[in-house]
Amino acid sequence: MPRSFNFSAGPAALPTPVLERAQAELLDYQGSGMSMMEMSHRGSHFVEVAERAEATLRGLLAVPDHYKVLFLQGGATQQFAAVPLNLCAAGASVDYVDTGSWSTKAIKEAGKFASVNVAASSKEDAYSHIPAPDRWQRSRDAAYLHVCSNETIGGLQFHAFPDTGDVPLVADMSSDFLARPLDVEQFGVIYAGAQKNVAPSGLTIVIVREDLLDRARAPIPSMLEWSVHAAAGSMSNTPATFPWYVAGLVFEWLVAQGGLAGIQAQNLAKSSALYSAIDNSNFYRCPVVEADRSIMNVPFTLADEVRDKDFLAGAEARGLHGLKGHRSVGGMRASIYNAVGQDAVDALVDYMREFEREHAG
Ligand code: PMP
Repeated sequence: MPRSFNFSAGPAALPTPVLERAQAELLDYQGSGMSMMEMSHRGSHFVEVAERAEATLRGLLAVPDHYKVLFLQGGATQQFAAVPLNLCAAGASVDYVDTGSWSTKAIKEAGKFASVNVAASSKEDAYSHIPAPDRWQRSRDAAYLHVCSNETIGGLQFHAFPDTGDVPLVADMSSDFLARPLDVEQFGVIYAGAQKNVAPSGLTIVIVREDLLDRARAPIPSMLEWSVHAAAGSMSNTPATFPWYVAGLVFEWLVAQGGLAGIQAQNLAKSSALYSAIDNSNFYRCPVVEADRSIMNVPFTLADEVRDKDFLAGAEARGLHGLKGHRSVGGMRASIYNAVGQDAVDALVDYMREFEREHAG
């Protein structure tokens, strides 16, 4: 059975070899007579899977020893609250950079627990760019500075991160985690929902510098407290065992792609093919300035939005799925995460050219 070209923003495409391996192991994981889904998280099979997944992730990202890697639940949305609860006292100042829908959600949630200073925002320019760091108006005493490294809806991505000195930099990397190499030491905290580049939904990865683990206010729910999860190896309650297992397979698949440098090269080839197709036409348009465009989520509009429906119907008919833009902004969006191949992007570009020939002018 052929696999669709899946441009969904998340849950999103997973690498076919990973799904095949999960399928092969599904009914009988390594002679146990059980599937990974049916096993105790404290049993030897799962403990081995969990430890290997963490070790592979640490290798991929070169995570330094003084950072903890947590495999949690609750989504990135839960981390919107966990970040202020773990990093500052009630009402303390925190800085946020507003680059679109997801930073706005993080800001709103943090506002319940801290005094948020929006250090910069490109809202007035319809989030067409990322505000230049040298213009950010940071507070003097911020407990941390928060950015969303990749705005999944708007299609903006930080291609470099500012040095925030002693103020921990916190990044929501839900939609570009493991898409490129990263210097983890630039960050105090990195968090990401897994359902784009890592695994099925249900898993949230948090990487936190150890010295930040004693800053949580008290009391907060244990499930939100990073130090509780760190002390328990992310098993203070039942973790999302199956997504954690799949994450491990994806990490191994990434190693086989040449690690993060290898996958970054693939991602750059895919995204530049798509952006060139958009830029070399008068029919399609990308609303984001070139320097801040995402290599993961590519939003585009047609010259005439009346045609959106026809474009999407024609795409579906060709097996190109998930291209509808987010309901809040409309238009189109191609999410081209790690597992979306160059063949999918080439098929999309062919279709775009054909649609343009039929409808332009
Ligand atoms: N941040 C970003 C950048 C996202 O793309 C998403 C989900 N699309 C979230 C946060 C929320 O993640 P979750 O649904 O896992 O809570």
